[in-house]
Amino acid sequence: MKFNYTLSVVPEERYFAVEIRIYDWEQAEVSLYMPVWTPGSYLVREFSRLVQGFRAMDGQGVILPWQKVSKNQWRVKAAPVVIVNYLVFANDLTVRTNHVDLTHGYCNGAATFMTIPGYEGEATALKIILPHSDWRVATALVPEQEHCYLVPNYHTLVDSPIEMGIHTRVDFMAAGRPHSFVVWGEGNYEIDRIVADTIKIVETTCQFWGDIPYDRYLFLLHLSTTGNGGLEHQNCCSLNYNPLGFRREGYFRFMNLVAHEFFHTWNVKRLLPKEFREIDYNRENYTTLLWFAEGITSYYDQLIPLRSGIYDAKHFLKILGDNITRYFHTPGRWEQTLADASFDAWIKLYRPDANSQNSQISYYLKGDLVAMLLDLQLRSQYQSSLDQLLRLAWAECRDRGYTEADIFALVERLSSKNLVRWLDLVLHTVAELDFNYCLHPFGLHLVASDSSAQVPSLGMTVKAVMVGRSCNLWKQKVPPRWLALTQGTS
Ligand SMILES: [Zn+2]
Repeated sequence: MKFNYTLSVVPEERYFAVEIRIYDWEQAEVSLYMPVWTPGSYLVREFSRLVQGFRAMDGQGVILPWQKVSKNQWRVKAAPVVIVNYLVFANDLTVRTNHVDLTHGYCNGAATFMTIPGYEGEATALKIILPHSDWRVATALVPEQEHCYLVPNYHTLVDSPIEMGIHTRVDFMAAGRPHSFVVWGEGNYEIDRIVADTIKIVETTCQFWGDIPYDRYLFLLHLSTTGNGGLEHQNCCSLNYNPLGFRREGYFRFMNLVAHEFFHTWNVKRLLPKEFREIDYNRENYTTLLWFAEGITSYYDQLIPLRSGIYDAKHFLKILGDNITRYFHTPGRWEQTLADASFDAWIKLYRPDANSQNSQISYYLKGDLVAMLLDLQLRSQYQSSLDQLLRLAWAECRDRGYTEADIFALVERLSSKNLVRWLDLVLHTVAELDFNYCLHPFGLHLVASDSSAQVPSLGMTVKAVMVGRSCNLWKQKVPPRWLALTQGTS
């Protein structure tokens, strides 16, 4: 049996049209299903709700009967050749969904392509039909010929978003490998500056890991006022950013996003929790380890631009101060442990409500701060570092999937049982983080600003940005030792 896909864009009606051709099928029926979620974004999104016009026929064009057997599964009475066609409505511009308009089509595999249960590991092919001759394709899939791609397995199809249309593209070399930056939309960005700083991030990150696990890499950027964020993939990432957000600190935040998604090329795409080794696209895939995958990545998305010279230590400390302020303004840190925050991402972090601030803590935010405290203790007490821990994990756990026990064992090898006990405590209890204990050896001390101490509070958060402005917990100058730390000398 073999099967292949054809993807067409219908810009006027905001649809993708998909055809799946299955050859040499020998069973009486064939099932097809749509994933309910896409890896890297831990929410059941029910992509099948956007499917319409499903139909099936044999090689002679004779209609084949079919029935829906669950919310995301279709069963077709089969013939040796089965041709399935359907439409996907594409009107949601985020990094994990589909969007089509008159200027482009952005396709995420999980939200677009059905597959056959049990055949996710089979090689297949994808042909793309563009509506206009001036449209171009940008994807990490490797072309066999123009607009035709050999796809080694379904997971690669899911993990290779496709940008089709009119866009700005810059190809460049970094760390000895070809990279591309593709931008859809207009904004106040300067592509030359973005590319120059991306080269720095790529080279610093590749040097950090000491290993480059891809042949070429693609940065996809959508400029949009909705859906701000990023999504990591094996050999590319999707970014969605405010079109007018590239000035002053907004530009640094954009480079944090670039650094974050690129760091994931190692941490989570290849160095991944054991639960993500075998993805089940039909339901939630639970793990307690997102503090490692996302929290540590968040810590390094601040460190890598610093080490690359994109901003200085003062700005780095301001980010840390803002993060600690946000942490102290989240009462939910007394309700939910870091491990539980990871496990319940599907129903908590990705589904915020009016009470979220009181009932949960972000594994990005607390994970980032725990990563910093772990790093500080490794450096001050054991002449080691989080850098070393990650490189050790990469050497020993790459591709096989790690457990919490694996991480604890690695931490113990670089330090002692005491630090493992501390880590266990901060992951599985709501004990308060002791910042000053860990900062003290570096000449840093956490103090609440005077304005924060004097202004009465109703305990209400009206707007996150206002909370950030009202508090400035950092009042210390940067000591030489901290500079050594942030410049990555370990
Ligand atoms: Zn992330």
